Amino acid sequence: MIIIMQSDATPKEVADLVERLRASGADVSVSTEDGRTVVDGSVDVRLYEEAPWDSFPGVERVSPSVRGGRQVGREFKSENTVVPVRANVSIGDGSLVVVAGPCAVESRDLMMETARAVAESGARILRGDSFKPRTSPYTFQGLGKAGLEIMAEAREITGLPFVAEVLDPRHVGVIASYADMLRVGTRNMSNYALLREVGLHDKPVLLKRGRDSTVEEWIDAAEYIYSAGNPHIVLVERGVRGFDTSARNTLDLTAVPVAKSLTHLPVMVDPSHASGRRDLVAPLARAAVAVGADGVLIDVHPSPDTALVDGAQALLPAEFADLMTTLEAVAHAISGR
Ligand code: PEP
Ligand code: MN
Repeated sequence: MIIIMQSDATPKEVADLVERLRASGADVSVSTEDGRTVVDGSVDVRLYEEAPWDSFPGVERVSPSVRGGRQVGREFKSENTVVPVRANVSIGDGSLVVVAGPCAVESRDLMMETARAVAESGARILRGDSFKPRTSPYTFQGLGKAGLEIMAEAREITGLPFVAEVLDPRHVGVIASYADMLRVGTRNMSNYALLREVGLHDKPVLLKRGRDSTVEEWIDAAEYIYSAGNPHIVLVERGVRGFDTSARNTLDLTAVPVAKSLTHLPVMVDPSHASGRRDLVAPLARAAVAVGADGVLIDVHPSPDTALVDGAQALLPAEFADLMTTLEAVAHAISGR
């Protein structure tokens, strides 16, 4: 938030305003531009909504934005953000973070089997959703809270944190009380009420790119979360809708270095949802690592033919184990990591 003072504002008016902002927890800086005092109380958009700042003595106008554009932008912060997920897992610290598991939690037994297998192969975060955004209302929608309980048990057994999709602002609280990380899916990238709600929680967030969204729109979506108070965001490229029907979506690998140059956030890639095809997952995952992604999301299922969701793109646990070996080789080749 930026507050421009009137040109005849007194030092006491400025001091009183700064004191009031600091009392609200704002990190305030004061400068002079074109003969006017500018008070910068940036970071949290809730501060802007907290008081009628423009009616304070000496204030000329107030803007909710920050200087230099977006807070997720490189111009706001030049060093890379590292997103902590759990004590031993961070994204963006130079390590390669692989998120793996089934698209949805289908049963306790299947989840435990998959979780054990991916943990053994070196996955760092488990996936398995309990609330699914399905194209048809008549298909499997997820196990709800019972699925979150299964995931919590899988975490207990493997020691791996888990990520879960949030679809509805009303569910964010309960999902955040179980999951280590939240995920906003492609269909909800422009659901601004959901983005704000996710921004009010302290769990890190995977923000997928909208399937028809530009990189700029994706970054603005991240700004919604950041400006609501949650700076722990990871961007996920998962393909966009194109004219070619040979794969489910068109994986836009250009978006990885572009998003990394425009923002300070880590960027991951989901080759499973990008392609919808098991045979394309490994080559696209390797390409994602080679282009500089901080990690990948891989669907794994012990019985893809009977999977309730997205079986066609799921790797068998043994295929996932092979992929992990080659991903590590690519990561090592490009950065020595
Ligand atoms: C998913 O990861 O299960 C998912 C629904 O992905 P997307 O939002 O990218 O389609
Ligand atoms: Mn899926």
